[in-house]
Amino acid sequence: MRGGYRESPRLLLVEDDRELAPMLAEVLGDDYQVDIAADGQRGLHLALTHHYDAMVIDRGLPAIEGVDLVERLRARGLLTPILLLTARGSITERVEGLDAGAEDYLVKPFEIDELLARIRALLRRHPDTSAVLPVGTRSLQLDARTVVGEQATPVQLSASEAELLAVLARRPDKVFTRPELLATVFDPADVAGTVDTYVYYLRRKLGRRAIRTVYGVGYQLGTL
Ligand code: CA
Repeated sequence: MRGGYRESPRLLLVEDDRELAPMLAEVLGDDYQVDIAADGQRGLHLALTHHYDAMVIDRGLPAIEGVDLVERLRARGLLTPILLLTARGSITERVEGLDAGAEDYLVKPFEIDELLARIRALLRRHPDTSAVLPVGTRSLQLDARTVVGEQATPVQLSASEAELLAVLARRPDKVFTRPELLATVFDPADVAGTVDTYVYYLRRKLGRRAIRTVYGVGYQLGTL
């Protein structure tokens, strides 16, 4: 919500089909703000670093396969409702998708109207997917990239800083390795020092203890 009117819900579409993806994005674009990821790695990055109200994920994807992607998102504490698209409708495939943490599935080929109805149902069932992540005693507002707290002045973060903090904050119990953070938040091809640089920036803005260094392993959300 900004400026007193309600923005349309945000959807992430993870689909590698070069004809289907833009076609779906166009149709969905009437009712939603849609981001497209053409492979699982990009999908993981966008899902963990931006706020979405729902996600539509194809099962067969390059880089990270659809069911694996759903599992990874759930393992990182992401609760956003997910609709999985599957090419085959065998019981095993459906069960795998639901077991991985998807709320619903739709078998290809499908009618657009059915997809739209399923997405509306997902959004009704999960009306309060939050754009706000708790970080210690404060919270990160994903859309505004701002850390706010009752006792603290709001802190504005850059896109990369907010993305790094979001990934750490979704799993406060987990120690992330540098390669993990590099692959999730940044470009896997970036130099390893990128992670350290952004940890430094975040500590400068939020305090030294905001991120904990676990020697020989990596980084974890600290205390704010
Ligand atoms: Ca596919």
